[in-house]
Amino acid sequence: MSQTIGALVTEHIAVGLVEDHRLVGAIRRFPATQQGVSDTLESIHANEIVERIAQEIEGAGEGRAIKSVGVGFPGVNRDGLIEESPNLKQAKGLNLGQDLSQALRQRGIEATVRVLNDADALAAGIAATRGELDQLVRVWFLGVGVGLGRYPDIAGVGEGGHSVVSLDPKEKFCGCGGVGHLEGIMGHRAMRLRFLDLEPEEVFQEAADGDQRCSEFVLLWHRALAAATSSTIHYDGPGKFYISGPNARFVQAGLLNQYVRDMVKMSTLQNNTFEVIDTSDDVALIGAAVIAQQTTTA
Ligand SMILES: [Zn+2]
Repeated sequence: MSQTIGALVTEHIAVGLVEDHRLVGAIRRFPATQQGVSDTLESIHANEIVERIAQEIEGAGEGRAIKSVGVGFPGVNRDGLIEESPNLKQAKGLNLGQDLSQALRQRGIEATVRVLNDADALAAGIAATRGELDQLVRVWFLGVGVGLGRYPDIAGVGEGGHSVVSLDPKEKFCGCGGVGHLEGIMGHRAMRLRFLDLEPEEVFQEAADGDQRCSEFVLLWHRALAAATSSTIHYDGPGKFYISGPNARFVQAGLLNQYVRDMVKMSTLQNNTFEVIDTSDDVALIGAAVIAQQTTTA
């Protein structure tokens, strides 16, 4: 069995040794404390992020021969070069694949490094941990931003969170600055900008209590997700969609289903289902490792 390391970079770094689609041993994290949402990575230099990942990989490997490393990283990357990363802006232009390979080599680790989008790592992890590696798996991640992960990983940009779902020029809350984007409606940061007087959880609570402004927004929120999903269905075919991330708890699957049925009318495209699931770092980390392994053995 070849030894593979999976790593995930979000607002923190998580690294683990993966064998046979399972984590072996504990996850190593930087920063080590797990309390609350940390923004440590936002304030450290891109080169230091690379060093920290290499350090955690060395620790997780415990001297074993590591053949491949998979890294889930937010943003657009092409062959390991980070072209754009709205939530880790300093990483723009970082050649993560090359720099991490070199940092590992300096530690005596000769491994193939594969960098993939963090949401795609999550999709691969869901496929691997649910025995669905032979299927198409798509996952919406609803957090500070919004991501769409796909397994199998395909070459391309894969920024489905920035799907245009509104032609209203006033819809301008997306983190990337684009007008009419899904993330500009559904993203946590965007919701805080829209409701300056309410936290997102209060918006959903007030909607449940019958407040009109909040209720209208909750319908818009679901219609936006339905619209982006419907576009994906028209491009990429029907099937199952997982929904995960901290704000997945606000999803009403019945409402979402109803809207998608309104938006997708071609009979061969109507076989769609939604499942809200809990995921942790483990799943995306396993996914990153699985993709790295597939790349090495392909
Ligand atoms: Zn955007």
